[in-house]
Amino acid sequence: AIAVRNLVKTFGETTVLYGIDLAIEPGQVSCLIGPSGSGKSTLLRCMAFLEEATRGTISINGEILGFAEDSQGRRERISAATNRSIRAQIGMVFQQFNLWPHMTALGNVSEALKMVHKMSRKEAEDAAMVQLVKVGLEARAGHYPSQLSGGQQQRVAIARALALKPKIMLFDEPTSSLDPELTGEVLNVMRDLAAEGMTMVVVSHEIGFAATVGQQIIFLDHGKILFTGAPQEVFKKPRNSRLEQFLDTYL
Ligand code: ATP
Ligand code: MG
Repeated sequence: AIAVRNLVKTFGETTVLYGIDLAIEPGQVSCLIGPSGSGKSTLLRCMAFLEEATRGTISINGEILGFAEDSQGRRERISAATNRSIRAQIGMVFQQFNLWPHMTALGNVSEALKMVHKMSRKEAEDAAMVQLVKVGLEARAGHYPSQLSGGQQQRVAIARALALKPKIMLFDEPTSSLDPELTGEVLNVMRDLAAEGMTMVVVSHEIGFAATVGQQIIFLDHGKILFTGAPQEVFKKPRNSRLEQFLDTYL
């Protein structure tokens, strides 16, 4: 579960998030939609502690990440060890796959298991193979990124995140850099993951995915949540005019 309370994020003079309150339930798929520049990536990056919130708090499975805040708004940094252990529960997948070009698919997925989890090469590769099977790439384990399609590279990136056994997966436009015919294979992997009960937050313009897999749709506009609700409330009868306008450009 993720609980975001009054999250404010500023970059210098610019406020990007204006007091976000949000609850992500365990096992739920939440889809974050909104126009370009509305703050979707920033919100996701704060949840993964890749950005520090300026105000407000984020808790992951009941533990405060980054900074605690008292009733007077005084902020206190959480210990690095605690932040590390909380962050280990979160996997993240980006639009850019960020694979190591000089490593095979198997190497990309097993590397962190050796480095972070101190597994032996054999253990790490066995565990990595389990994840490659899961994303349908066992036959490509020995291929380098340049020998894989974009969709396959993104599935390797997902396998790499899953190998670290996250409890929550955050996806930031995972299919946006893919040709349309390759998005389906990535969305199918995500659909399987959702069906297994993974807690997921997905930033995506794939409205079809959001409508069929999402349990909660969150509409962000200019750094504020304008709407949170079930897909049927969003897509069948949007009541918010900004949301309606947004959907008109994507449907
Ligand atoms: P897109 O759909 O284009 O990915 P987004 O909803 O993910 O957009 P963000 O990337 O979160 O939007 O950006 C929100 C705002 O914050 C933008 O105005 C952006 O320019 C600004 N911003 C993001 N990161 C930084 C940064 N490191 N420094 C300054 N401004 C930033
Ligand atoms: Mg973004």
